Amino acid sequence: MSDEVASLVCNVCGAELKATPETLVKVCDYCGALNIVSGVLEREDISVVPSVGEEVVLRKFWERVRGDSDLRGIADKLKVVSVEGRFIPFWLSRCKVRGEVIYTVKEYSGNKVRVVRKKARFLKSINVKIVGRRQVAHVGLDELASRYLATRPKASPLSKLDEDWWRGNRLKILSMEFDRLEAEKIIMEDSIDHVRGIWERRVDRIEFFAADVVEMEKPKLILLPLWEIIYEFRGSLYFAYHEGWSGRPILFAEPMITRRRMMYLGGMILSVLGGAGIGAVISLIMEPGESGDLLGPILLGLAVLGILGYKSAKGFVSDVRVERQ
Ligand SMILES: [Zn+2]
Repeated sequence: MSDEVASLVCNVCGAELKATPETLVKVCDYCGALNIVSGVLEREDISVVPSVGEEVVLRKFWERVRGDSDLRGIADKLKVVSVEGRFIPFWLSRCKVRGEVIYTVKEYSGNKVRVVRKKARFLKSINVKIVGRRQVAHVGLDELASRYLATRPKASPLSKLDEDWWRGNRLKILSMEFDRLEAEKIIMEDSIDHVRGIWERRVDRIEFFAADVVEMEKPKLILLPLWEIIYEFRGSLYFAYHEGWSGRPILFAEPMITRRRMMYLGGMILSVLGGAGIGAVISLIMEPGESGDLLGPILLGLAVLGILGYKSAKGFVSDVRVERQ
């Protein structure tokens, strides 16, 4: 198998394949055939979720725009600049993680707080997904994998994929940079981190944590189609990401339109007025030195108004709003 890596020619047309030694799968620039370059990967190891074509993705894009209360009004001023589809390689597996944790939680009885130390054993099954690349600085990938796990569209093994479809689909494959053995190592670390994260969100403090992966499904490599639409509005560029199996949007950046900006401005004014109003109420109802029962709710009200003011101010100054679908 290793001499295949050395020769690097297309197994269909014989043209030279421009691939780095790290490339595992490469589409021939000349005939479009899919070549498995790596010796550690078999055709059976890879599955593909086929993609709809560009026109379906664009139709969903415009449906999203016309169905959105903010964008509807400016739809005729939006211009699509580019549309590009790519296959993103993911390694998917399911792991069972077993371990032990010692943690503390706070228990309240009346107005007393008690810190209690507890110990637990656990066995947890989780889905793990990792991008088959080292540089993951790409927007939309996490959303893509999550949407895949949530909707489970049909995937075909590469060996059963219609070659004509493959050649006609024109989607590029983002190159894969690690093979199954490396993927297994990362999946193992990730799944333990993931389970630890679940505990961290659940308890106050972790004093001890030890876990092992006791079972791992053989990682499968799956190519998921991701479409990127770049569009323009008043001289600025915005992106939208769509998954390719149904063409629906998964991540959508929207220009901040004036009406929404005014909404945020309203929130800011309201929070300032509300704060002032509460201040006035405090001075009216409370004699100096009195610490009435109203203080709690009033402070809570101030905190809520503070958050409203902060969020509104942040929204007001930003030019783009990203919506997860
Ligand atoms: Zn070829």
